[in-house]
Amino acid sequence: MGGRDATMVLLDENGIRCDGRKVDEPRRIMIKAGGLKNADGSAYIEFGDNKILVGVFGPRDVHPKHMSNTDTGILRVRYHMEPFSVGERKNPAPSRREIEISKVIKEALEPAVMLEKFPRTAVDVFIEILQADGGTRCAALTAASVALADAGIPMRDMVAAIAAGKVADTVILDVNNEEDQAGQADMPIGYMPSLEKITLLQLDGVLTPEEYKKCVQVGVDGCKLVYDLQKKALNDKYFGNKGG
Ligand code: ADP
Repeated sequence: MGGRDATMVLLDENGIRCDGRKVDEPRRIMIKAGGLKNADGSAYIEFGDNKILVGVFGPRDVHPKHMSNTDTGILRVRYHMEPFSVGERKNPAPSRREIEISKVIKEALEPAVMLEKFPRTAVDVFIEILQADGGTRCAALTAASVALADAGIPMRDMVAAIAAGKVADTVILDVNNEEDQAGQADMPIGYMPSLEKITLLQLDGVLTPEEYKKCVQVGVDGCKLVYDLQKKALNDKYFGNKGG
């Protein structure tokens, strides 16, 4: 947020955004289930110019043992950005931002995963951001849900995620990097469509109460579109002829 390029037109007089989309139009989304033969489950997502690979391992023994829980399994999530994933090389050391996003994604996935079925074990989710263009936490959360399902981890639902936001005093769906930097608000939402429950909601920026409600509605509707693509990815792998 904060107007990195004050001259950029985020919304023109015809209601078209800086990348040619309409206000309620998501970027192109492609999700593939599977792909990593050494992982128990995996997924790859392209969400606009974001490119993200997720590998899931487990349920497996926890080391060190004292980190395990006798009553339930634990979920561990590592969100990692490749140094080449952004325009200016990112320092390979884990940043505060990566640590925070790992936690946010873990907490957004926990309500979906039936960890109580696997006491003393851990399920590890490794997220590799190969290319970032705004909205990586939503794209990563979406792909992580597919990778968990691909690993056969019992789940109550999948979490689908997308951001709503505000540019030029207008609520938009799926905030890209320019809109995130120069826009007025960014609201990532993670949602379990079958259970109708929100598991992630963050807000960077300022909204009126009406705009807030509209962002939640637009975001939840967007999550339902993403959910269809998650299911399609799993269908293509397990019932289609695309393999993976
Ligand atoms: P999200 O990717 O979930 O939107 P942020 O709002 O923190 O998370 O980041 C927005 C975007 O800023 C990222 O998607 C990425 O394109 C860019 N970005 C993040 N970290 C860096 C970095 N270290 N260097 C350059 N760009 C970055």
